[in-house]
Amino acid sequence: MPGQGSAQTVIDSLEFARTGQTLRGSLPLVGLARLKGSLADALGTVEFEVRGGEDARRRPVLTVTIHGTLRLQCQRCLEALDHPLRVLNTLLLVTGTGASTGELDDEDGEWIEASRELDLAALIEEEILLSLSYAPRHEEGTCRPLRTAAADSASAAAFAGLAALKRNHH
Ligand SMILES: [Zn+2]
Repeated sequence: MPGQGSAQTVIDSLEFARTGQTLRGSLPLVGLARLKGSLADALGTVEFEVRGGEDARRRPVLTVTIHGTLRLQCQRCLEALDHPLRVLNTLLLVTGTGASTGELDDEDGEWIEASRELDLAALIEEEILLSLSYAPRHEEGTCRPLRTAAADSASAAAFAGLAALKRNHH
């Protein structure tokens, strides 16, 4: 069936919005090269829906919905962390001239440049990256404490050794 699955993700963005089309599918995480660096593992897929339409001022927009679970790495204990992904975002489509002549207001929110060959896979990856926090962590107090404690005492021992070494030079 056309429009299903992960094969066809390139759209003519203005046409897609004008005709109110919807595209649903799933993307394997392993195919999202830029996102992969943030993942503890790249197993599984994300589900997406992109809907074309217009905003209150009758300008073309794409509404992007993304669902899935990402395996991130906790920045405190470095163990894997399940991150439920829920992105819902409306993006204004702007033509090249509109973007450069300052037609946009601050309240317009997010916008992307309209393209005849907009790659939705790249757009979805970008939206996921923007939604991630800079330093994902487990809930306070739920990290595994062992690893940090071991690392602390190891560096304390190394430091003590260094201090002993310095003393011996006197
Ligand atoms: Zn943790």
